[in-house]
Amino acid sequence: MKLLVDTHTHTVASGHAYSTLRENALFAAKKGLEAFCCTDHGPGIEGGAPDFIISVLQGLPDILEGVRMIRGCELNILDSEGNVDLPEKYMQRSEFLIASMHDIVIPQDTVEKNTAALVNALRNKYVDVVGHPGNPHYPVHIEEVVDAAKKYDKLIEINSHSFLHRKGSDKTCPQFIRLCKRKDVRITVSSDAHACYNVGNFEEAARALEAEGFPEELIVSRSLGAFTEYLKEREKRIK
Ligand SMILES: [Zn+2]
Ligand SMILES: [Zn+2]
Repeated sequence: MKLLVDTHTHTVASGHAYSTLRENALFAAKKGLEAFCCTDHGPGIEGGAPDFIISVLQGLPDILEGVRMIRGCELNILDSEGNVDLPEKYMQRSEFLIASMHDIVIPQDTVEKNTAALVNALRNKYVDVVGHPGNPHYPVHIEEVVDAAKKYDKLIEINSHSFLHRKGSDKTCPQFIRLCKRKDVRITVSSDAHACYNVGNFEEAARALEAEGFPEELIVSRSLGAFTEYLKEREKRIK
């Protein structure tokens, strides 16, 4: 399985990650990736990037070290209404936005409330994908989340890092994969790298996708060409 875009990476601007944007770009190039999304944590997480980070990214070239850099952010979901931590004017300027629940930002709640948080975040036109939705720390009604992604033409992230570091994800992520396959819901695959060495590390996710015979055409991050098509669709959506 060839996956040439990493849709979720962090730099030192996240406050708790270890590499610069240049280091991430160099490793992306070394791994043979065509593109990567720079998605530092939004301001709602302690030490996260300031809300104007997207404006800073706008000033940079599209191509870094031969690899396309896509300007994004990993928004923090703040409540079960799906509110996020970046003002609209900055979301407007982004190219790709992940919305995630993090345990130092939003407390664990009931399955209903956790599900509502993800579903409502997906209703936000600027949000492209829910990040690590299989995180067992926030159990959700998986089918409802997948249905919401379908309804709003959004994406589900299969986060490779989760398989190793979010205990229990080896059970929940395959459930997302099976439902996305059954319901024709598109996905992204990401490393969630917090250091350049992990950029483009998709092994665990790829293994799980292969085990389920997941169709490549539903993986928008399979190539820069496929991802660019999605970004065009997104541009129309947020107009
Ligand atoms: Zn996250
Ligand atoms: Zn992350």
